[in-house]
Amino acid sequence: MHISHRQHFFDHIAQTSDFPLALEIEKAEGVYMYGTDGKRYLDLISGIGVSNVGHRHPEVLAALHQQLDKHMHLLVYGEFIQSTQVQLAKALADTLNFESENPSPFGKIDNVYFTNSGTEAVEGAMKLAKRFTGRTEFISCYNAYHGSTQGALSLSGAESFKRNFRPLLPGIRNIEHGNSADLQFITSKTAAVIIEIIGGESGVRVPTLDYIKALRKRCTEVGALLILDEVQTGFGRTGSFWAFEQYDIYPDVLLSAKGMGGGMPIGAFMSSQEVMSVFKNNPVLGHITTFGGHPVSSAASLAALQVTLKENLAQKSVAKGDLFKSLLVHPKIKEVRGKGLMLAAEMDSFEVLKQTIDSCIAKGVITDWFLFCDNSMRLAPPLIITEEQIREGCRVIMEVLEQ
Ligand code: PMP
Repeated sequence: MHISHRQHFFDHIAQTSDFPLALEIEKAEGVYMYGTDGKRYLDLISGIGVSNVGHRHPEVLAALHQQLDKHMHLLVYGEFIQSTQVQLAKALADTLNFESENPSPFGKIDNVYFTNSGTEAVEGAMKLAKRFTGRTEFISCYNAYHGSTQGALSLSGAESFKRNFRPLLPGIRNIEHGNSADLQFITSKTAAVIIEIIGGESGVRVPTLDYIKALRKRCTEVGALLILDEVQTGFGRTGSFWAFEQYDIYPDVLLSAKGMGGGMPIGAFMSSQEVMSVFKNNPVLGHITTFGGHPVSSAASLAALQVTLKENLAQKSVAKGDLFKSLLVHPKIKEVRGKGLMLAAEMDSFEVLKQTIDSCIAKGVITDWFLFCDNSMRLAPPLIITEEQIREGCRVIMEVLEQ
């Protein structure tokens, strides 16, 4: 009997997207996905910045198998010593062990709290900032996306997302990403500023060095924590392991997820011992999770981190991003902006963009748009993509634009 899988998808999977791609993928490897219909797709979005080391990287698979042979979940977070978790926390701290000209007043980040997702990292960081500063107000940016739960949604900078869910958390103010004049709104009442160095869902917004330095300075002056949301920009995506490395500053709290898991779900909020200790002295348990830092996800994450460093994926993505920029020159493309392999190609209009994305998929190249920017094409391939594969993808995009 023939069963229409597409119909089951629409009948029983809760739909929240107006245009679900509804591709059925049988297998994914490296930069390619293979449909159940046998069609091959070049992945230029990495599951939204997740598959940075490529799909099913052999070293990630080996680490997964090795961990599965030992144990899966044991007990709620932080009770047992789980060696992959400990090794991962050390490896993350090592990536953050450097001096900065514009440091955090609380010293280096060497303490990691693992979560299951980026959203949970945001939620944990908000609680941490409240507890540490004794303040309740937060600043975030217009058109920022930090997650869909109540706290993270409250930080969202898109009214369309928040409107139907009020009342949300009070005391949150949006400022314009990159606009130094708005830094005045960060005051001695601000618990924390939460910001993506390079705005992701706003359509890849790259600020100036001066703006980020001024932001760091302002936070230090008024005693607000600077929380960098590197959920999308971290793990090599923008040309350095963390995007903030390119801005000569050091955050007070750092958030990670997405690419961190090498394809498995994991996230983290990280800070110095001093800041993080407020959870311990709460006096009750300051924050709890059952699955955060799951040993299997931790194993995959450690392997992904090591592959990223060993293969110099961050540094190599700079030239790869430049290659995209040099190939995507067309009257219908206004600009290609971004750093490393976090790119946005701005088109004339939403109609041109939608048509281009649909036609590219029909020709076996997967691109996408952004939550809060509907005229730009998302280009965020696995960092392992080769020059040849970049040329292949851009050739298809250019062919489609010519039609
Ligand atoms: N922060 C940023 C910058 C993100 O891009 C996202 C996801 N798009 C999140 C937080 C939320 O992460 P998750 O979907 O893993 O909860």
